Parts: sequence; C-alpha cells; structure tokens
Amino acid sequence: MPAEDLPRIAELAAPFAAVTVESHANTIGPSTLEFAVLLSGTLEVAVGLETVHPVAAAHLNKKLELDRFDRAAAFLREHDLDLRVFVLLGAPHVPAQESIEWTVKTAEYAASRGARRISIIPVRGGNGELERLEALGDFVPPTLAQLEAALERCLAIRSAVVTADVWDIARLSGCENCRAQRVARIQTMNLSPSPQPPTPIPCSACA
Ligand SMILES: [Zn+2]
Repeated sequence: MPAEDLPRIAELAAPFAAVTVESHANTIGPSTLEFAVLLSGTLEVAVGLETVHPVAAAHLNKKLELDRFDRAAAFLREHDLDLRVFVLLGAPHVPAQESIEWTVKTAEYAASRGARRISIIPVRGGNGELERLEALGDFVPPTLAQLEAALERCLAIRSAVVTADVWDIARLSGCENCRAQRVARIQTMNLSPSPQPPTPIPCSACA
C-alpha cells in the first residue's frame, strides 16, 4: 500500500474505535507505527501464524519463520499495539490424528507471544492445490467435531480470546444427526469468554 494513502485511510477510519489490519509479519515495522499514530482509534494487527508444526510450517510458511513472527509480535507489544493471530485447523502435512493438538499448540504459542485474539480457521479446499495434496494423503479436510474440540481446548488459554471461524461451516464434514447442536455449541463458545465449556452434545449416531 503506498505510504501516501495512509492519511486518507486513517481519515476514513476516524469514526471507528478500533481498526484491524491484516499484515505479513515481515511488513510490521515503522510504517505500522506511522499508521497507528494517524488513527483516532486503536490499531490491531492480524497475522497468519498458521501452524507451528515444523514440517507443515516449512511447506506453508516459506516466508514466515517463527523468529520473524516472534520479532513482529515483540515489536507490536513494545509499541502497545494489539495482535490478532490466525491459526489453522487441518493444515496440510499435519497428521490428521494430531490435527487438534497442533492447532491448540499453535494457539498457545500465539498467546505466549502476546496475541490478544486468536481465530481458528479450518482449512478449506477448493483451490485445486489442497485436492492434489489430499490425493497424495498429505491433507485431510478438518471436520466439524475437530473444530469444536480444538476450540473447547483453547478455552483454557486465558490471556487471549480464542474463537472459531464459522464462515462456510456448513462445508465441514460431520454427523448430520447432531450438526446443528454442534454449530450452536461452537457459536456459544465464540460468544462466551467462560473457561467452562458448555455441556457436550450427546449423540447416539456419532458417539
Ligand atoms: Zn452425531
């Protein structure tokens, strides 16, 4: 984004108490501060950490090494700017049976680096590349039950608000008998900061 556009963007954002910008960890620096100073509200910077699984991260984040993320997070902390982090559920190359665990580990990592908000994004196919990896056995689409379980485990993180991204949630595979209740349970967890998860869904079809 050309630097000369920033004052006008800040002017357009003047009615808002908070502004979130999505940024690559590499581009967080002095220009982030310049923009923050122009805003009348607070600035939150959203960064995709995706996964801390070493093999998957090597495939996904050729440009985002963990130390770059750490430096960006430290910079934001130092300057009192908020950090939001996107973590993936079902990242390619993460073994499906370890999927929930790595999502939780990644969220914990983000929280330990000062993230105040963490969004769990279930990986969605549709771009051809994931379908190719799926055929090779390197990608297993995440399920609704995994999203629910990952979010539930992340409620234990008290220094950040963790939510599940429910966009296109109908595309996640799951038991049709209890789908509606599971979606509702995820939405309850998204809206409630309580560390106590809502009552589990009993389902004879998928228990
Ligand atoms: Zn069920």
